[in-house]
Amino acid sequence: MVDVFSAASSTTAFLGAEWVGFETMIEYVEMIGNNPALHYDQTLQPHARCRGMTMRFEQVREYIIHFFGLPWHNRIWTLQEYAQSKHVVLHRTLQGALLSRYLVNVGAHLTKCCSSHDLYPAYTTYGFEILGKMRAAFAFDTVLALLRTRQCYDPRDKVYGLWSYGPRENRWPSLTPNHSFSTLEVYQKVFESSTMPGTLDILSFNAGSRHLDLGLPSFVPDWTAAMTPYDFETFSNRISVLTAAGYKASKESVPDFSISNSGVGKTPGIIVDIIAVLQQNDYSSEKERL
Ligand SMILES: [Zn+2]
Repeated sequence: MVDVFSAASSTTAFLGAEWVGFETMIEYVEMIGNNPALHYDQTLQPHARCRGMTMRFEQVREYIIHFFGLPWHNRIWTLQEYAQSKHVVLHRTLQGALLSRYLVNVGAHLTKCCSSHDLYPAYTTYGFEILGKMRAAFAFDTVLALLRTRQCYDPRDKVYGLWSYGPRENRWPSLTPNHSFSTLEVYQKVFESSTMPGTLDILSFNAGSRHLDLGLPSFVPDWTAAMTPYDFETFSNRISVLTAAGYKASKESVPDFSISNSGVGKTPGIIVDIIAVLQQNDYSSEKERL
């Protein structure tokens, strides 16, 4: 499907029936998307005002939250419609390029001035930058890790839904989509392919709470593991360190990893320190299933 979307001159993504407030939401997105100087915090000037309403109005916030809460924004297969198409129109009228500009502008304000953090579901991750890096430098397992909160019905599609984004020569052959393999086999193939070049980075991708009985060894990441928004943010920050240019904690040492007949993974290590206390976060009750 990646090839189909790439070849199409235009793609229309249908997000479901229109809802009350749709037109207002579109106007708001256009306003912010076309003017990066506009604050959405109404206490700052100049700020966005649509049909006489600012973000202070609960109604406006609800319209926007409803839009970004639609399943389309967080499914794994819909990434193809958005990231691969030359031109995409969402829901009849909203230009994909305009939505991108809106997200960029809102993101810039979030980091420096405007303080409303509740406009989007925590897992709205578009991943365009991530997919772009996949074409250039990111390994497949890193992309998989950073987009792990994208959802799908079949756990194997966490892998298969992303596999075709990279250059053909970089696609791990063992992961060629084949639904005759079980989820356990597919996730094990990810682990094996990841460690093949002589790196154990994938051990750092184990995170979240496992909630499906997939029969996975603990050292094989479960890409369906549930994460709180706080956990995912921490996880993403850790990956950004791991993938930073020049970072190589193990230097030139070659990993020594083996799996025993009983399925136990073994690798030598060094105890640098022991963590005595972990700070509790405030999001522990917000477990969401992916
Ligand atoms: Zn601002």
